[in-house]
Amino acid sequence: MELIREAAGALGLENPFFRPHEGIAGATTRIGNRELINYGSYNYLGLNGDARVMRAAQAAIDRHGVSASASRMVSGERPGHAALEQALAAHYGVEAALAFVSGHATNVTVLGHLMGPRDLILHDAAIHNSCTEGARLSGARRIAFAHNDWQAAEKELATARRAARRALIVIEGHYSMDGDIPDLPRFVEMARRHDAWLMVDEAHGMGVVGRTGHGIHEHWGVDAREVDIWMGTLSKTLSGCGGYIAGNADLIAWLKHSAPGFVYSVGMAPALAAAALEALAILQAEPERVARVQRNAALFLRLAKEAGLDTGTSAGLAIVPVIVGSSVGAARLSQALFEQGINVQPILYPAVPDSSARLRFFLSSEHSEAQIRSTIDAVQAAMAGARPAEIPG
Ligand code: PMP
Repeated sequence: MELIREAAGALGLENPFFRPHEGIAGATTRIGNRELINYGSYNYLGLNGDARVMRAAQAAIDRHGVSASASRMVSGERPGHAALEQALAAHYGVEAALAFVSGHATNVTVLGHLMGPRDLILHDAAIHNSCTEGARLSGARRIAFAHNDWQAAEKELATARRAARRALIVIEGHYSMDGDIPDLPRFVEMARRHDAWLMVDEAHGMGVVGRTGHGIHEHWGVDAREVDIWMGTLSKTLSGCGGYIAGNADLIAWLKHSAPGFVYSVGMAPALAAAALEALAILQAEPERVARVQRNAALFLRLAKEAGLDTGTSAGLAIVPVIVGSSVGAARLSQALFEQGINVQPILYPAVPDSSARLRFFLSSEHSEAQIRSTIDAVQAAMAGARPAEIPG
């Protein structure tokens, strides 16, 4: 990123990162007194800013103040924590859940704590940084398999399983960079056959994947109890901040009493737990929001393909990349669109290989068809005006 900051300066581009937004970022956002169409926020169902979610958060502040003021194990437990965890467990149809103060920290501490040096962690090559950091911390043997290639995963597992005490496969339910989804039944079956655990990070799947937004298990018709560890964040569809693990009662009780990122960290702010609980209730009561985000993303994907844009392997559920092919090209395209009133973030090396640098569009239930059509027209025109091959660097 430092390289990009320097390169952007040399090319006369603005730094596309850390721009302050005013107001509530939804289908549009306000940056520097301009209202832009916004594809930079993972407010998938428009619930950040929903009056009911904000009222729930305000009521929790009135009752408890803004902080839990201690680790939950000591004096930080508030009624909203257990209420949220019970609702999350019921949403998946599993025994229990545990909420952590950060999604990133959830993966780091759970993977780092659960697995050890004699174990094996087999993960998708495109897995989120929080999972690779957790895997590193664990000291386990780590093997990355080619993105979304279950056959490659199985080959690696068959070879490496015997030497390992325990094995864990880690995948995402909806990949954050590519917007595609895994063949969950294949992974469930392979985990059982090779005596491995399966962990699915549903950060981007909740509220987006499956007919009613229950996630990748709903999409495939798989019983959620077939997956050993469900992980998710509260920062996306659920409009809060924090992470969670859902699974069987023994796993959750063990994490609750021993995972360092839970035991030695402050309890989630009561307002964030209350906001996420209310957002979850709205997700369940208003499945039309899920249908809208899926319809918007499918329209965006179809129009992008018709315009000849490279959208990679996106499933068109909420995340659609437009692959540009160089970090500098992606930064330039992002700036050209910004100047035309469209906020979309470039994803640059080292987050992805330079050759697959891209713009990443987060669609929401609140985008209009007119916004989507004008955006595709603008991307097509900007790319026609500055083909990556013509861009120096
Ligand atoms: N997992 C995935 C797949 C993510 O994309 C992210 C963040 N975008 C996280 C975990 C971490 O979640 P949070 O941002 O809520 O800390």
